[in-house]
Amino acid sequence: MKHLAILGSTGSIGTSALSVVESFPGRFDAVALAAGHNVARLREQVRTFHPEVVSVADAGAAAALANEFPEVRWVHGAEGLTQVACHPSADVVVGAVVGSAGLAPTLAAIRAGKDIALANKETLVVAGDLVIEAARKHGVRLLPVDSEHNAIHQALRVGPPDGVKRLILTASGGPFRTWSPERIRRATVEDALAHPTWKMGRKISIDSATMMNKALEIIEAHHLFEMPSERISVLIHPQSLVHSFVEYIDGTLIAQLSVNDMRFPILYALAYPDRLPTPFAPLDLASAPALQFEEPDPARFPALDLARAALDEGGEIPAVLNGANEAAVAAFLDRRLPFGAIVEITARVIDHWIPKNRPLASVEQALAADHEARRLAAGLLAKYETPS
Ligand code: NDP
Repeated sequence: MKHLAILGSTGSIGTSALSVVESFPGRFDAVALAAGHNVARLREQVRTFHPEVVSVADAGAAAALANEFPEVRWVHGAEGLTQVACHPSADVVVGAVVGSAGLAPTLAAIRAGKDIALANKETLVVAGDLVIEAARKHGVRLLPVDSEHNAIHQALRVGPPDGVKRLILTASGGPFRTWSPERIRRATVEDALAHPTWKMGRKISIDSATMMNKALEIIEAHHLFEMPSERISVLIHPQSLVHSFVEYIDGTLIAQLSVNDMRFPILYALAYPDRLPTPFAPLDLASAPALQFEEPDPARFPALDLARAALDEGGEIPAVLNGANEAAVAAFLDRRLPFGAIVEITARVIDHWIPKNRPLASVEQALAADHEARRLAAGLLAKYETPS
């Protein structure tokens, strides 16, 4: 039996992880949950899974829930999130909080010796070197839940590390794959949230529409698989059935395919190194649509080049990219910013960052850079007209 702590249990990945738990009662259980503000969903999860400790964002909500469920230990805020991540009876922590808020609890879990099933890519973007170093030092597994990295994790088991030529991350291309750059600039919140193949949380849906999601995934892959950015390619694959490839030096491409349902990579990460029989309908290739592949268009999706440059720059710059992007996405979702300005503002914050070459020595420094990047982005928001 693996005992899980789930950070972000009420979100898209969190609920999928709990669906996997529910399907394997003798194999997994959820001993600790952490959520933000969705108390209604959390209440149902507590009734179904009977966790020992639960965190919510607000102290007031935690106090009210403690009256309702006195058998549970209720904690709250950033400290609560960390307590859930370090809960003594948890073996594996599912990192499914959105944004850089996931960094501190994930690192705390690593330092407490927990294996991590990581969906929260921002953790690796903001402080990848420090997180990987901590995982190595504490001897914990960092298993990617992100479907592309999960696919690569599987495909890398086929050949020796020195036989790998490059990693190829597939990308759906999002809702604006075929739109003109001019039309993309004016896209509405509803347009941008209408992802063609995946149902996900709001922030990652907007990141998919700008392709900043794929951009962040290049940085994530660099850290997880120790691969330089020039050996990580991106290929548009609108059907989202091939989740990525590893190309070997002998010309062989190893792909991983499954239904576009996050319960598949979650099950792989939670079961690893075992394989468990899936209760979810597997991919039926005979009835699947034809598979297409094409190069991404840098004019439509400048985020890809921006992230590669940020990764090459290193130090604080990936944290700056992430912080500015999170602030700009939040402003777009609040209808305070046109879609086309999201990546533009992120690029401008990086342009203004001085000095560029400061090495990243600590998590505190990474979070300070993230915070300052958000402040700079907020200052730039006023210069853009709000969309009608
Ligand atoms: P959602 O927005 O659906 O869920 C986010 C979760 O995090 C919610 O449970 C939310 O709580 C909680 N949360 C947010 N901020 C805090 C905080 N400060 N303290 C405590 N809890 C917090 O996001 P997704 O599930 O879509 O994505 C989660 C992560 O997984 C992201 O990093 C994303 O990039 C990554 N990912 C997601 C995929 C997907 O298919 N959705 C695929 C691959 C990666 P509440 O709702 O209660 O406020």
